[in-house]
Amino acid sequence: MTILNQHHTNSKRFCIQCRNCGNENIYDQPTLACAKCNHQWQEATYDYYHAAQAWQQSLHNRRTSLWRYHELLPLKNLRHTVSMGEGWTPLIKAENLGLMLGHSNIYIKDERQGPTGSFKDRQAAVAVSAMREAGIREAVVASTGNVAIAYSAYCARAGIKLWVFVTSSVPQEKMREAAIYGSEVIKVAGTYDETKQVAAEFAASKNLFLDRGIKAMAAKEAMKTLAFEISEQLGRLQTGLDPYTVYPPTTNWASPDWYLQAVSGGMGPVGVIKGFEELQSMGLINKIPKLGCLQAAGCAPMVHSFKAGLDQAENVFDPDTQITTLATGVPGQAYTVLKNTIDRYGGTMEAVTDSEAFRALKVVAQMDGISIEPATAVTFAGLIKLVRQRVIQPNEMVVINCSGHTFPVEKHILGDQFARDMVLNDESENAKQENRLVTAIEKLDDRVKRIAIVEDNPHAARLIRRILQSQGEYFISEATNGRDALDMMQKNPPHLVILDLMMPEVDGFQVVNQMKNSPLLREIPIIVITAKELSPIEKQQLSGKIKKLLPKGNFMDADLMSDIEQVLG
Ligand SMILES: *Cc1c(COP(=O)(O)O)cnc(C)c1O
Ligand SMILES: [Zn+2]
Repeated sequence: MTILNQHHTNSKRFCIQCRNCGNENIYDQPTLACAKCNHQWQEATYDYYHAAQAWQQSLHNRRTSLWRYHELLPLKNLRHTVSMGEGWTPLIKAENLGLMLGHSNIYIKDERQGPTGSFKDRQAAVAVSAMREAGIREAVVASTGNVAIAYSAYCARAGIKLWVFVTSSVPQEKMREAAIYGSEVIKVAGTYDETKQVAAEFAASKNLFLDRGIKAMAAKEAMKTLAFEISEQLGRLQTGLDPYTVYPPTTNWASPDWYLQAVSGGMGPVGVIKGFEELQSMGLINKIPKLGCLQAAGCAPMVHSFKAGLDQAENVFDPDTQITTLATGVPGQAYTVLKNTIDRYGGTMEAVTDSEAFRALKVVAQMDGISIEPATAVTFAGLIKLVRQRVIQPNEMVVINCSGHTFPVEKHILGDQFARDMVLNDESENAKQENRLVTAIEKLDDRVKRIAIVEDNPHAARLIRRILQSQGEYFISEATNGRDALDMMQKNPPHLVILDLMMPEVDGFQVVNQMKNSPLLREIPIIVITAKELSPIEKQQLSGKIKKLLPKGNFMDADLMSDIEQVLG
């Protein structure tokens, strides 16, 4: 083994261990299987003691990419790195979604900001670097979309010819992106599990390197960097430091209560949990988060097996979901590993329908300005479900793996009626051109109804305003206390009032009473949104005077919109 003789400053040694028999060797080259027992699932192990020391001393001086954790990544020498700034993605608070769910600790790990827009960039960066180090010039990979794109980009840089096998149900837009990078794209008319098999047989017949995903080591190791970054960033956040930078340095690391991800083959969570375990063994964090694995209901072998309490997954042979990224029907050993993880550290598996996911996709875009792909929408729909079921408690810190972009599915979601047409150069009546322009501009804004929001908490007001702005056609006026609200309404009576109860000076109860005593305001319908538990007397006070009562932090945008539409008729 040449590695033993290498004394290059940047070279390191690490071991590769068989998950079945424990046989351990110093890593030299990617290998297919354990030399002793022929088992294919391999793990890397490192010198954790020295890594912990190095991180404490110098992490703040390192570049903000996933390579800042290189001591625990499976590359012998950093000069083989293929890098485009992958990793160190922002950790963003889901402000408005959190308000809607009554949950103030939801954080989005924004993997959209990687070089090709998904967390597969981590996998590609590490796996392709390892290929480069091993001298590989041609490789084969099977993918449900994002791996194809990420590997294609990194293989282009590394000078590796890539054959990507994708199921033909992967959106054309995704396949084209892989092709743009110069990969050979093969569409397989079959399930993803069949596609994997075809890829493996092609690689074997041509004697090409096959990326074996979760069984091999590099890809899984790359996923650990999500755990490292989340813990480093959360630690900074909890110390009151900016999580986007590394200055000033902190020694405080922290793990969340939950890590949530949509799961297909399961590599992400398997790698991420390994990362948290390594941090714990290094003494940097003191707990492993609970794991939330979300699947699309039309292909949820892990969820069904988990709910049935099985130790081995029962396969799904006819996936029925439009969300192809998640269409692994045969999870194999990954399921068992994840189930054991959940048994040990806590967590759950849950399924959501495609339509729940597409709804969540719109909500996250409209409320928090984050455009996610359907697979990530499954995670958010799962988050909504788990929070509402109180499986996730309101005080728990949740981190969500957030990938992709809506581009490939925008047409599916919005159809063709997403914009207003404006015709300017109608040549028939040139003389009146100017007038017609004025009329056309006026017609652009055809709102008639006015809604008043009366709310003293600026965050709650912002959430309601945002729901109305994005989903309704209303003029919105706002007041932050009862007195201003009554003044405002006297001057310009709205068609509907959305009213908070607890406000300083003139509270919501008084506003209701004064409106009912005013000939001008008496007939205006009122929807109350409150965090207050109402006593029987208070309920009595409001009875017959308001149209609806919604509890703060416990209604969705659609609930409010349907109430409004019902009230306004
Ligand atoms: C690959 C992928 C998944 C599934 O991840 P696994 O860890 O392979 O189960 C989920 N979401 C997105 C956006 C993906 O790209
Ligand atoms: Zn073995």
